[in-house]
Amino acid sequence: MDAKIAAITGGGQGIGRGIAYAFAAAGYAVSIADPAADAGEEAVEYISKLGGRALYERADTSREEDVSRWIARTIKTFGCPEVLVNNAGINANQPFLELRIKDFDHVQAVNVRGAVLCTQAVARELVKAKRGGAIINIASTRAFMSEANTEAYTASKGAIIALTHGMAISLGGYGIRVNAISPGWIETGDWQYSGRAKIPHHSDTDKAQHPVGRVGVPDDIAKACLFLANDAGFMTGQNIIIDGGMSVKMIYV
Ligand code: NAD
Repeated sequence: MDAKIAAITGGGQGIGRGIAYAFAAAGYAVSIADPAADAGEEAVEYISKLGGRALYERADTSREEDVSRWIARTIKTFGCPEVLVNNAGINANQPFLELRIKDFDHVQAVNVRGAVLCTQAVARELVKAKRGGAIINIASTRAFMSEANTEAYTASKGAIIALTHGMAISLGGYGIRVNAISPGWIETGDWQYSGRAKIPHHSDTDKAQHPVGRVGVPDDIAKACLFLANDAGFMTGQNIIIDGGMSVKMIYV
């Protein structure tokens, strides 16, 4: 039970895959839940080839039975994870006046209910085992600023920010810290399942709207996850914005 174990939702592709690789490289056994089996299996194969330990469970983390099955298998295989990254996220961008409520609800189910279910499942086990842990919620700068017609997504990310401070207070007494990361524009085209991956291209304008001069990569987020998991013992209920400075840049139109 002394091994370091990290559970990552949506770890098959994109930012989640980057987080999974970074935790594996840092010596963690990694458990990935993702409905995309080709992606999840490929991520595990990559980690195993490099000598790391990983498992993949086909799971939709908005479904309680999938989450229970995933966490039970993780515990049986590796032990109880002391790090959970609630990374799985989808959007349903539609003109607001035509936004279908079932699509709105589905986004909240994956992005918000999924984070609640996974945190409950992991935190219950940590409390039973009298161990502390770190929960990391992937929010978005879109919790704080918007393009038109993104209400389903922005609502879900606003909820994640609120949940982060809520769960930090509720779980603090058990030694469980809960923090959020709000990424800005992170390029994930080359972090998809190999059959769907694309070589990214960014124009000079894309780069120039970031004070750091580039679009983000999954590793920018993964490094902050490792910090929150390992070196942030006096931090809980907080949100870290990682967006290359995009959201503090003043724009006159
Ligand atoms: P992505 O689409 O590249 O990868 C998401 C992964 O989650 C996929 O493997 C997908 O199969 C999986 N997934 C989808 N539904 C799921 C479900 N119900 N249960 C479990 N897994 C599920 O997305 P990404 O860009 O890597 O985004 C990851 C997280 O980062 C999301 O929460 C997203 O909102 C957030 N984010 C991304 C960006 C960005 O620019 N890429 C910016 C801000 C926030």
